[in-house]
Amino acid sequence: MTWSNWAGTAKATPQRVHRPRSTVEIAEVVAGVADAGRRVRAWGSGHSFTAIAAADSDALDLTAWTGIERADLENQQVTVRSGTTLRTLNAALDALGLAMTNLGDIDAQTIAGAISTGTHG
Ligand SMILES: Cc1cc2nc3c(=O)[nH]c(=O)nc-3n(C[C@H](O)[C@H](O)[C@H](O)COP(=O)(O)OP(=O)(O)OC[C@H]3O[C@@H](n4cnc5c(N)ncnc54)[C@H](O)[C@@H]3O)c2cc1C
Repeated sequence: MTWSNWAGTAKATPQRVHRPRSTVEIAEVVAGVADAGRRVRAWGSGHSFTAIAAADSDALDLTAWTGIERADLENQQVTVRSGTTLRTLNAALDALGLAMTNLGDIDAQTIAGAISTGTHG
């Protein structure tokens, strides 16, 4: 398959795409790829304008690794699976009476992609 970022400025043809559904499966993918001497790169939503999410060997598709794992309402903190999009997270937080204090101008990014690149408003 051919992967492309949102802007169409970066393309890649990963040899393998892994779609884990649990931390155990994620660990198995990473260990297996490392044992084979290859490299794995996690995909967010592909909204970075550079090629930082481009994977030529193994890609980690985390679209099945989403949602809030834990919520600490007293301290207003949540633990979120890395493939969760900001759009999904905003709705889940709203249901808990919480919200993020700072957002960019779109909500398509994953939480891991946003944190990795310092996405801000
Ligand atoms: C239309 C548009 C509007 C935007 N507006 C803003 C804005 O207002 N403010 C702003 O700051 N930025 C903005 N951006 C930039 C965007 O927020 C960042 O590029 C963000 O990283 C995109 O998140 P993503 O999920 O698409 O990550 P990707 O681009 O897919 O990945 C980014 C990096 O994170 C890594 N990564 C992703 N998931 C994981 C994971 N689970 N574990 C480890 N590493 C991971 C990837 O390997 C890659 O290195 C905008 C981009 C677009 C296209």
